[in-house]
Amino acid sequence: MSLPSSLFDQDIAEIINKARFAGATEVRRLAPGDIVVEKQMAAYCREPGCPNFGQSPSCPPHVAGPAAFVELQGRSRAALMVRIEVPSAVLFSDERREVMRLLHEIVAGIEQAAIARGYAGSRSFAGGSCKDLFCIDHPECRVLSENGPCRNPDAARPSMSGFGVNVAKTLEMAGFTEPDKTRPAVKGEEATSWVAGMVLII
Ligand code: SF4
Repeated sequence: MSLPSSLFDQDIAEIINKARFAGATEVRRLAPGDIVVEKQMAAYCREPGCPNFGQSPSCPPHVAGPAAFVELQGRSRAALMVRIEVPSAVLFSDERREVMRLLHEIVAGIEQAAIARGYAGSRSFAGGSCKDLFCIDHPECRVLSENGPCRNPDAARPSMSGFGVNVAKTLEMAGFTEPDKTRPAVKGEEATSWVAGMVLII
């Protein structure tokens, strides 16, 4: 006979279901201590360098970085890894931004659902730069140019890499394997790929 799950476990299960409904292919819970953080991952944003470096508050050098992430990790009750699987060709097409924006929306939605359930310090992270994904048609980030608040506060979230998260290793720790080609979203495609985000439940 299985033991009744705790209220926390029930909350997490409901949040995961909600994320799947919103478009996540898979969401996995892992112990916060299993997130792999490496200072070097954040250093790569500067050298050899990313074109998004410094373009928004969600990327280095404007994010608090690995040390701050480790502090958040220590306060977290659980971590959720979110993955959206797509045909690889999509990530090399005009649809890439659409997929990445969906990823940001899903992790931000999980974060807000967790906060609504009383996990008030919960924080979400995605990938890519919000400047490139949400404000590509604007010359500047409104926050960095001090011209007002973020244009997309309900969706734009910081990049995991800027905080030193080794995404590939952390997905492995969460038990993710190669995309399952039998899933309806990717069935019949020869090559599949994924984008990933994370939520710390605090
Ligand atoms: S205004 Fe645009 S670039 Fe600046 S933080 Fe918000 S989404 Fe990112």
